[in-house]
Amino acid sequence: MRPMRRLIDSHVHLDGFPDPEVIHGECISAGIDAVVCVGGDIESSRQAMEAAGRFPDFFYPAIGVHPSNILKTDLVQAEEFISDNISRCVALGEVGLDYAYDFAKPKEVRAKMRFYLERFLEIAGDVGVPASVHSRSAYRDTLDLVAVSGVEAVFHWYDGPVHTLRRLLDAGFYVSATPVVEYSKGVRAVMLEAPLERILVETDSPVFLRGLGRLSRPVDVVRVVDALAELKGLDPGEVARVTTRNAESLFRI
Ligand SMILES: [Zn+2]
Repeated sequence: MRPMRRLIDSHVHLDGFPDPEVIHGECISAGIDAVVCVGGDIESSRQAMEAAGRFPDFFYPAIGVHPSNILKTDLVQAEEFISDNISRCVALGEVGLDYAYDFAKPKEVRAKMRFYLERFLEIAGDVGVPASVHSRSAYRDTLDLVAVSGVEAVFHWYDGPVHTLRRLLDAGFYVSATPVVEYSKGVRAVMLEAPLERILVETDSPVFLRGLGRLSRPVDVVRVVDALAELKGLDPGEVARVTTRNAESLFRI
């Protein structure tokens, strides 16, 4: 039997780092036993799968097309790639809707985002894998599409309103906390409201974070646990245990 995992970073863009081996070493030293690597396009999805091949039982791959890449990607090819490979991955992701980009102002672009999110969710639903979902300025549409699909999901880096959070929890979804839980008022309000049993921890690394003054790394997931524990008045060990169990249960790892 596998020894109990201590900590999982549930959302990392491994293609943003030069060497997966360095990340693996850093994580092991920090007590992080697993990392879910998401893909933002076909190439980074491929890289996530490759890293998982090199470090099995440590890197777990997710594949998808991030909404920021929706106009830059051959979506027919992406759909085929996801269909062919999803059964070897722990999740569909990163996928979602983002209406905050300038390029997403036209109705047709938003419609295209929704069309492909629906398609990708259908593929995930067919093989029964969950989704790692991105949503910005589009929570209502995202929640509607994911709920209708019947696919289990984590709304990664959830920073929407608390009333939408309640709908999302009622529908059975998870939310994940990033290092901004140390200082973002909105995210802190959300994380206070969400029960620990529905929270995952992640770094979305590498991403520049004002609070860190640098790009995030998977080891920063330790800070997320500490900040959540402080915010909720819980023991960090308890936060690590429960969020790890949540990630294991969602991704079936
Ligand atoms: Zn991401």
